[in-house]
This record gives sequence, structure tokens and C-alpha cells, in this order.
Amino acid sequence: MACRDLNKLEDNFKRKVEFFLRKCEEEGLKIFVTETFRSTARQKQLYKKGGSFLDGVKSKSFHQLGRAVDIAFDVPTYGSLYPEDMSLWYQVASIARRYGIDWGYDLWGWDMPHLQDSFSPLPLIIINEKHKELISGNIYSCKSVFNFGNIKAKELAVKHAKEWRAFLQRVE
Ligand SMILES: [Zn+2]
Repeated sequence: MACRDLNKLEDNFKRKVEFFLRKCEEEGLKIFVTETFRSTARQKQLYKKGGSFLDGVKSKSFHQLGRAVDIAFDVPTYGSLYPEDMSLWYQVASIARRYGIDWGYDLWGWDMPHLQDSFSPLPLIIINEKHKELISGNIYSCKSVFNFGNIKAKELAVKHAKEWRAFLQRVE
């Protein structure tokens, strides 16, 4: 059974998700969260069934760290939990990026419902000073789990720096 409780997310990421969900609502996108935190037992189960490429032990999902959510669309409005109209997904993704959240489809070319804490250290610095110390750990975990390394983190930081500055100005 998937856990949908936002309170089970890591604090900093939870805050990003709250900003993201509010913005989606403001822009008229009817989406909802289908999964937040995932236990190791559930991750193993999904891996066995072929629902994930991460075994939950050697390679962990960001869901296990409380740093990922899965979303779906409102069926009465869109006719499907996972509509075929890509423009809807792109709208969601562009809002997510503004809040330092990466989209599964950008990261590995599939898994559109998946959103996870950005590899970019920028949002961590901006949202909370005390998270500065987590930056090196953040990049390290990305390297070990996904093997993307610092290049990806840097690319994303540069790509979203402007949006983040704009966001900061609105929040503070
Ligand atoms: Zn996911």
C-alpha cells in the first residue's frame, strides 16, 4: 500500500512539494499525490514486480529517503490518471522545476508521474541556510545511486539559477 502522507517526507523537500502543489492549483492543474515515502520492503517488492529499476538495498529510490513523490491527474477532469496529452505533463514539470524538483522523464526518459528532490544544490541553499551542510551529501548520494555525478548537478544548477532567484524574491 502506497503512503501518501506529505508529513513522511524530508522537511526541506516537503516544503518544496507544498509550494509546487499550491502553484499547480493556482494554475488550474488538478493533480494529486499518489505516493510519498516508500519503505525498503515496498521498494523491494516493486523491484521484483518490475515496477522500479532500483532494488532498494544496493540502489535506493529517493522515495526511501522521503525525497520523492508520485503524482496523478484528476480522472473526472482529464479522463485518465496518466493522460496521453504530454502538454499537461510538461506544465506540471515546468512548475516542479521552479521549486527545485526534478521530473522523472527529464532524468531518465520515462516515469512521468515521478518527481524528486533536485540534484541542484541551489534550492537547498535558498530554502534553508542550515541545509548547506547537506549539499555535499546530496551530490554524493546522486553519484552513488544514479551515477550522474557533479556534471548533472552543475548543469541543473545553471539551468535553474534564474528561476530560483526569481522564486526567492517572491518568497522573501
Ligand atoms: Zn516515484
